[in-house]
Amino acid sequence: MLIAQTDPEKKNKGINAIIVEKNTPGITLGPHENKMGMRSSDTHSVMFTDVRVPKENRLGSHGEGFRIAMKILNSGRIGIASQALGIAMGAFERASQYAKERKAFGVEIGAHQAIAFKLADMAVKIETAQLLLLKTGWLKDQHREYTVAAAMSKQYCADIAMEITTQAVQIHGGYGYVKEYHVERLMREAKLTQIYEGTSEIQKIIISRAILNG
Ligand SMILES: Cc1cc2nc3c(=O)[nH]c(=O)nc-3n(C[C@H](O)[C@H](O)[C@H](O)COP(=O)(O)OP(=O)(O)OC[C@H]3O[C@@H](n4cnc5c(N)ncnc54)[C@H](O)[C@@H]3O)c2cc1C
Repeated sequence: MLIAQTDPEKKNKGINAIIVEKNTPGITLGPHENKMGMRSSDTHSVMFTDVRVPKENRLGSHGEGFRIAMKILNSGRIGIASQALGIAMGAFERASQYAKERKAFGVEIGAHQAIAFKLADMAVKIETAQLLLLKTGWLKDQHREYTVAAAMSKQYCADIAMEITTQAVQIHGGYGYVKEYHVERLMREAKLTQIYEGTSEIQKIIISRAILNG
């Protein structure tokens, strides 16, 4: 699906959502992107040169593309927030386990308060993120307004995923930096969740506009 600005002077009302079959003449793919993370999902830019599509491939009525895009993004943000939370939980589980196993200065590293408190902070953030995300899903299921809740969930889950995976690498010490222990991968995957489906900064714009204009 392509969201395209068809009448730039009409701004938001000059956007259309169009289904473009992938084998339509004029579509070419850019090179395979060599990404930092999420490497099992292929990413390419898509180029459109004089591509012709039938009128009936337009979703909704003329100029309705922005509304459709926002609707898709709202729902998609719940998905990316869930992805981020899953990454954070995976990193937390690995870090907690490692803190019980690895000994330094004669004791498990979890017995050092500096490590134990990192785990406590992670647990609180995960619990908070879960509750926020569940509330957002509940609002959607109830057919209630959930735009701001989805933006909050996306921003918070993505930001804590980045924090928690970074701390998980720290708790693993040198092993955190090598691929064998997987936490470095989780840290690379977490980064994308702060970027796609609207960056964390864009989520803050949505949240703050609702506060200031609500
Ligand atoms: C792996 C991957 C997969 C993707 N998949 C898709 C896909 O399937 N479909 C799709 O449509 N897109 C996809 N994207 C694109 C993605 O959604 C965008 O990269 C993302 O929304 C950020 O837009 P941008 O790259 O243009 O950054 P820019 O808009 O150039 O932003 C750069 C920086 O400036 C900040 N910024 C920009 N505007 C503002 C503002 N008004 N106020 C404050 N800060 C601002 C941003 O937060 C960011 O930090 C994908 C990207 C990646 C990396």
